[in-house]
Amino acid sequence: MSENAISVRNLYRYFGALKAVQGVSFDIPHGSVCGFVGANGAGKTTTMRILASLDYPTMGTAEICGYNVVSHPDEVRRLIGWMPDHFGNYEHMTVAEYLDFYARALGYKGKERRLRVQEVMEFTDLVPLAERFSNKLSKGNTQRLGLGRALLQDPQILIMDEPAAGLDPKARVELKSLIRVLASEGKTIFISSHILSELGEMCDSLLFINGGRIVHHGDAESLKRGTEQAGGYLYDVQILGDPEALSSWCLLQPGVEFTEARKYGGRLNIQGDNVEDAADVLRRMIKDGLQITEFHREERNLEDAFIDMLGRIERGEVSAAAPTGGRAIRPPVPPPLPTAATEPAEEDKTLNSSSN
Ligand code: ATP
Repeated sequence: MSENAISVRNLYRYFGALKAVQGVSFDIPHGSVCGFVGANGAGKTTTMRILASLDYPTMGTAEICGYNVVSHPDEVRRLIGWMPDHFGNYEHMTVAEYLDFYARALGYKGKERRLRVQEVMEFTDLVPLAERFSNKLSKGNTQRLGLGRALLQDPQILIMDEPAAGLDPKARVELKSLIRVLASEGKTIFISSHILSELGEMCDSLLFINGGRIVHHGDAESLKRGTEQAGGYLYDVQILGDPEALSSWCLLQPGVEFTEARKYGGRLNIQGDNVEDAADVLRRMIKDGLQITEFHREERNLEDAFIDMLGRIERGEVSAAAPTGGRAIRPPVPPPLPTAATEPAEEDKTLNSSSN
């Protein structure tokens, strides 16, 4: 068996002059859950579509269980379940018919097909909606149907592009628990999302992409620690009286940054790597007459850590190719911009438009 379920090396994808993916490398071991995080347009869908063998890289390699996605798409498609961010449902086709249609396309026949469709509907809790038209489902049930479709051939690897986008909190929790069950069955799951805190809870590792480059690959804790050490610690401070007194005081203090106003005070970032630094700040506040009612260290959340890290990359304090924590990523060697010969072929464009 290949060492990793997913392996990507120096992957590039250009659309004309637009560099959507620029030298991405990462590995995802078998049986792990990896979250893929990045802003709009960061390159997540492009990378995932290449992994799903729906698009070709401009340069570099991507492998699923050791199979190159370009030279062995059939093997790759047998191994993965692909859940795109948008997919079409057919009018006048019920949930059961929709799944049955895809099960036929995958080659299931007779009793085995009916059994598989039934199993998938049970897993995704779609049995009560089996006769409902597939294009008349709520967003949450539509996502269940998409997941069901991706699970029909019981894939080893699930690639899910923003499956929780647009779901209400209840549908989100339900989807998360389905993903947990799949992970506990040993499936490898590669899942993209904008909601970092959600991914942090369920993923073994997080892969951050920014401007087509990987900026961090590690677990949620290593990201938090990496930015904490570099960026100080956050404290919630509340005072009696005018909360603006706190922000004004911070302006004059080296190593103390007022990061967010709150009803009775604010959130401060205190530079330093031990509690003595914070104790010193507290002592100075009291000495200067601030009436402190609350002073406690806050857990840095993933959003804070990610934003800190992007800020440090923008300021040139760290390189995008040398992440602040987790596994080191080899710096990419950029290829020249594609010429007519390296532009995606006509058939590629067909693939692009038919993936959903
Ligand atoms: P989002 O979170 O908004 O889905 P993303 O991280 O998935 O964003 P991609 O969809 O991978 O980002 O897009 C990366 C960049 O490539 C964007 O600038 C996008 O406009 C561009 N892009 C993607 N597909 C194509 C295409 N077929 N032709 C031209 N440009 C494209």
